[in-house]
Amino acid sequence: MPTFSKFITSQRGAQQILDSDGYIYSRKKSSDTALTSTWRCAKYNPPTKCKCHIYLALADNSLILVTKPHNHSADGSVPARQEVLLSLKRKAADQPLSATQNLISETLADTAAEVNQSLPNLESLARVVQRSRASSSGSAQHAEATTSEDFILREGGLVTLTSMTSVPSTRHTPAR
Ligand SMILES: [Zn+2]
Repeated sequence: MPTFSKFITSQRGAQQILDSDGYIYSRKKSSDTALTSTWRCAKYNPPTKCKCHIYLALADNSLILVTKPHNHSADGSVPARQEVLLSLKRKAADQPLSATQNLISETLADTAAEVNQSLPNLESLARVVQRSRASSSGSAQHAEATTSEDFILREGGLVTLTSMTSVPSTRHTPAR
């Protein structure tokens, strides 16, 4: 039984779970109960047709139950790949003014070659950046903000982020 689980985001933007053994699960809402959410192994489709399901407590997302064992081995490169995508997303949100290409090459430069090979293509990576920016600006305060309010929120978020991180800003430059 895996010892922990964490939420990740699939390339298409859906919420998934990565367990400590490197297996990935997709939500199966139709099988949720009043107290649990139901997730099935991401390899439930042919040819693998894995039947493994896991159940999380809705209250605190703790792992309650793992059903059948997987009929396949875990993809060992998945955790490393997820780390890379996560760091790319963070960069995208923290550096709203950096060009997408720069963020991607910066991220890939920090990553082992064998992990890079398993990453999605550049086009998908660029979409990861754009999606991360869209969601970080949209969820900053109110998702239903009007266009002009959204712009103000974006500006506000920018100020906060630059003062928190080492991104060069007008006020935060040492020794000048
Ligand atoms: Zn499986």
